[in-house]
Amino acid sequence: VSVLAADLGGTWLRTAVVLGGDDALHAVRRARLRTVFDGRPSDEVWDDVVAQLGSAARSDAARDAERVAVAFPGPLAGGAPLAAPTLTGAAPVPGDLVARIADACGRRVDLVNDVAAAAAFLAARTRDRDFFVVTVSSGIGSRVHRAGARRAQAAYDGEIGHLVVDERADAPACDCGGRGHLGALASGRAIERAARAAAAADPRAFATTACARAGATAATLTNEAHLVPAMLAGDAWSLALLRAAVAPLARVALQTVVAAGLERVYVIGGFAVALGAVYRDALAAAIAGLIDSPAIRCDVRELVRVVDPGTEAALRGAALAS
Ligand SMILES: [Zn+2]
Repeated sequence: VSVLAADLGGTWLRTAVVLGGDDALHAVRRARLRTVFDGRPSDEVWDDVVAQLGSAARSDAARDAERVAVAFPGPLAGGAPLAAPTLTGAAPVPGDLVARIADACGRRVDLVNDVAAAAAFLAARTRDRDFFVVTVSSGIGSRVHRAGARRAQAAYDGEIGHLVVDERADAPACDCGGRGHLGALASGRAIERAARAAAAADPRAFATTACARAGATAATLTNEAHLVPAMLAGDAWSLALLRAAVAPLARVALQTVVAAGLERVYVIGGFAVALGAVYRDALAAAIAGLIDSPAIRCDVRELVRVVDPGTEAALRGAALAS
């Protein structure tokens, strides 16, 4: 069985043909998406997504694909997408999106939440039975995986990125339109915004940082070029931003793990993976700071793992999970 799998991210749309029984991906393609955060109207963002998927479906490699499986970056209700905050912010997803993709591709289309896809991929490769997957990239998403359990029915399953964790009136705005959400404080995009704001607020302190030495200004600083390299190099200003960002995530993750009795936290997503052990140490330290009871016996360094399931995880996972 051949499936055209797609991973719809906040930045890239990746597609590949996944053959059953074959571990290789074929005809991997990647297209840069321009989103509402690049000033694009949301209907044009969706036009683009539909056109890109249609073009991948018409390729030679996808000729035998029976269906299209899309890892989708947002909540789904009965397979229908409700929102895609990292792509189109607070705008609703068009009600006919799945039908339009099916039309453009000439195949049946299944949407699966992107973190659910990654969890399905991880589950096939770990001995852990019950675990928590958190993705830290453009936004924050999660999934509780339990071996043998049926998929949750609630559309809010895993949407921890949109929980209010900062109730101040001037808390950072979330891509979804809310305020003080976990994703607005702890995602890669949020940390980049916080760094720019901190640089603008205190130019003198910023001037001494590794980011400034690498040529960043409050307007031009990015994760990829400045903040991540500075964090990896141990820059104190940048690491303080990281500690502030992981604190609310540590709380939510620990509550989930303890409440559900899970054995591991797998952190995935471009931002966390780029930092690797630096991210793991920051999150583990924040979690350790929330435990001071003999009732919670837990080796935090063993609890948290930052893993890079590879860019293909969502593609393979979409084909597996849908
Ligand atoms: Zn939100």
